Amino acid sequence: MKYYSVAIDGPSGAGKSTMARALASKLGYLYVDTGAIYRTLGLFALSCGVSPSDPEGVSALLPKAIITMNYGEDGLQHMYLGGQPEQGGEDVTEAIRTPEVSTAASKISAIPAVRAFLLEMQRDIARHNNVIMDGRDIGTAVLPQADVKIFLTASPQARAQRRYAELAAKGNADSFENVLRDITERDERDSNRSAAPLRQAEDAVLFDSTDYSPEECVERLLEIIQEKTV
Ligand code: C5P
Repeated sequence: MKYYSVAIDGPSGAGKSTMARALASKLGYLYVDTGAIYRTLGLFALSCGVSPSDPEGVSALLPKAIITMNYGEDGLQHMYLGGQPEQGGEDVTEAIRTPEVSTAASKISAIPAVRAFLLEMQRDIARHNNVIMDGRDIGTAVLPQADVKIFLTASPQARAQRRYAELAAKGNADSFENVLRDITERDERDSNRSAAPLRQAEDAVLFDSTDYSPEECVERLLEIIQEKTV
């Protein structure tokens, strides 16, 4: 059976997860948030007292990192550390959404051993499902044969504004300036690392969402996907 895969890459706050979730629900595909996988490993490093900037320390942790995921009845991708819930694993779905974990994820994701460790887990999901997978290197490294590749971006201000509103809605009181600075620093790290840096795949469609409402973006992206998956 042929499974379709749609890769959505782009910088932080471009709306990848909102778009991917909406598109997956319209198409009946599985939405795979690969950032959540990096975040879970980032949280694991922090909880073990290992600096996310220490490649040797983080690499030594990998054999002990048991990262699993499942999809609840709510359709949400739940992340676990230490195994599935029935094996006593801890549900870290919420805990990985803090600014501290964002920075840790961005730092550990620059370590080649980390990327190699997580690669097969991501590919395996696409082997058995129609997927919309979002991240930084899906079209370039994880699924270079994806049926559709989209590079979703927006201006740094628009991205910081969205992230700020998201965090504020969750009661996180970080200032707009801090959110903008974090986003700019993460862009810098994600684009300039040597291991699978953030870049647009040659065959990806570039879509700048700065001046579009979420509904307009979904509509336009749906057209792009449907053109390529019929
Ligand atoms: O997408 P999200 O912001 O949740 O990702 C957190 C961090 O994980 C990113 O800043 C990036 O450094 C890293 N990441 C990555 N490759 C992916 C997904 C996320 O390097 N495919």
